[in-house]
Amino acid sequence: MYIGVDLGGTNIGVGLVDEKGKIVYKGEIPTGVGRPFEEIIGDMAKLIQDVIEESDYKQEDLKAIGIGSTGLPDNKKGTIVLASNLGWENAPIRDELHKYFDLPIHLDNDGNTAGLAEAVAGACQGAENSITLTLGTGIGAGIIINGKPYSGAHSVGAELGHLIIHVDGIQCTCGNKGCWERYASATALISEGKKAAKNHSDSLIYQLVDRNLDRITAKTVIDAAKKGDVTALKLFDNYIYYLAMGIITIINSFDPAIIAIGGGVAGAGDFLFDALKKKVKEHIFYKEAPYAEITQAVLGNDAGIIGAAMLGKL
Ligand SMILES: [Zn+2]
Repeated sequence: MYIGVDLGGTNIGVGLVDEKGKIVYKGEIPTGVGRPFEEIIGDMAKLIQDVIEESDYKQEDLKAIGIGSTGLPDNKKGTIVLASNLGWENAPIRDELHKYFDLPIHLDNDGNTAGLAEAVAGACQGAENSITLTLGTGIGAGIIINGKPYSGAHSVGAELGHLIIHVDGIQCTCGNKGCWERYASATALISEGKKAAKNHSDSLIYQLVDRNLDRITAKTVIDAAKKGDVTALKLFDNYIYYLAMGIITIINSFDPAIIAIGGGVAGAGDFLFDALKKKVKEHIFYKEAPYAEITQAVLGNDAGIIGAAMLGKL
């Protein structure tokens, strides 16, 4: 059995996970950012103990603890080099958690753990090489090569959300301009939706939120597009175009067997995937050769816990 920890800026999720990547028992607490990291790790340790206690297992049954973290974790050093939403810099979380558990402790970023989860127990099962993308506030990415997460020589890789697809384009939170996630994340769709609703008061986007722009979500835009609203369809087509361009760059770079896409936007299902696959097919480089299957990720929020736990199996 393995413990998987999903360490985010809002919540800490902990799960007891079996060899096959199935969660046996799980729990969650608020992260409570702003406190010293020793305190937060103390709460994490307590939650791990609670999860073990409330399941039918004991600490002796555990082989390892894996932590999938926001920010930039360094598994070699056992630290979180930088996590701006936690306010941490060079936090030695492995040493801190070792005060509570005498077990191997593995770290990776949450994009990679989501990718590993889909590879072991989700949409990418059976594929040695796959990439999982999560369309949310930004675009999270997990690159799995030969069954293992790949984050490069300095642990800073897999930041596919920051592929620059529009030189001197929209300002990104990373300091550069024109990053993919400025065009193809849920945030991008929401921001375009708000602009469009403001300029086209006859749009269904505007009506679906009772003329309250703050209520516009990615789903609002997609729902309006599904109903054939001209403004929403235009936004949606543009969104799919950018999403497809990034995916084509990924296919050209990595040629994975499967690209799984998760996050709220992916919940649009066939409406999104049919349009996306069509656009990728139109622009793919090698038109006659086979290329990645594009599919919906299936593990949702559990992916973070499952993937973190599976770090112990690598
Ligand atoms: Zn960026």
